Amino acid sequence: NRQQQQQLKSLYDLLEQASQFYTQQLRSHPAREQAVKYLKSRGLSGQAAKAFDIGFAPPGWDNFLEKVGNDEKNRQLLEQAGLLIHNEERNSDYDRFRNRIMFPIRDQRGRVIAFGGRVLGDDKPKYLNSPETETFHKGRELYGLYEARKHNQKLERLLIVEGYMDVVGLAQYGIHYAIATLGTATSAQHLERVFKMVPEVIFCFDGDQAGRTAAKRALSTTLPVIKDGQEARFLFLPDGEDPDSLVRKEGTEQFSKRLDEGLPLAEFFFKSHSEEMDLNSMDGRARFSSAALPMIHTMKPGILKQMMLDRVSELTGLSQDQLESVVNLHSATQA
Ligand code: ATP
Ligand code: MN
Ligand code: MN
Ligand code: MN
Repeated sequence: NRQQQQQLKSLYDLLEQASQFYTQQLRSHPAREQAVKYLKSRGLSGQAAKAFDIGFAPPGWDNFLEKVGNDEKNRQLLEQAGLLIHNEERNSDYDRFRNRIMFPIRDQRGRVIAFGGRVLGDDKPKYLNSPETETFHKGRELYGLYEARKHNQKLERLLIVEGYMDVVGLAQYGIHYAIATLGTATSAQHLERVFKMVPEVIFCFDGDQAGRTAAKRALSTTLPVIKDGQEARFLFLPDGEDPDSLVRKEGTEQFSKRLDEGLPLAEFFFKSHSEEMDLNSMDGRARFSSAALPMIHTMKPGILKQMMLDRVSELTGLSQDQLESVVNLHSATQA
């Protein structure tokens, strides 16, 4: 166990060293011009880049490997840190992150635990993330959370967005409480962490099909987690925009106004369910209740749950008792 602790410490040290290497390369590598040009083309300020320790992994296969020292022990550690890839067939090792803009991902205590890397143009894949490692568990970590809390210890709300550039762009425009999941859907674990810190969460995904799907998934994930006294809202952006593009286009004031007008959870719930079904027909009302009730059923007991059940009653004309027996029947047949 002591050995495990030491090993873990070596991983954290290595990740911190990598982060410092990447920020230093952005300042001094001969190929830095391209990276700086790209960041400027995205409108990123030097201050924002600094606040998030954005760096540059230079082109080449083994810059960081050589920097650390190419021996067996280091190769092993680097691979465990997610920074080195071992090619079995050729028996060769190479840096995972090459010629990319680097975003260090920190845990709650500020330790670097992983990276996201973006290409400098339109190549694919656009983003490359560290794999799951001993230090990095995607379903738990949130990009920008450490920086948000560092900026303001008394956070009142958090804004959940999709991408690195959204978090950084919003911070540049004075909205310092955006965080992003890391290429995965928002998990219950994410939400539980977030609601332990703040009573209000706003989801703001991209104005595209993927973003709308992500919002519906986030709704299903939020229902079982949310408690009375907590608030979740959903903000939908114009087609083709994401938080980064929009805040740059319309500025802080306009964007903040949108934040205050996000759709409350229950409203989004009923809107999305009734859009898909015709509540004027008996069949539509039946389909509506059979979709809505099991979801409401996942909620913790409380006022919001009760109110949502009342609303289903209202919309379907069924009494609470009738609804209850449907749900019981439903869960009995599922069990
Ligand atoms: P940018 O503004 O730099 O083009 P974005 O942040 O708007 O990027 P999206 O394409 O909207 O990126 O994707 C949102 C997020 O999803 C990214 O920030 C990244 O975390 C993740 N992501 C996107 N593409 C990939 C990929 N190919 N592999 C892993 N994660 C990805
Ligand atoms: Mn998108
Ligand atoms: Mn974007
Ligand atoms: Mn986007």
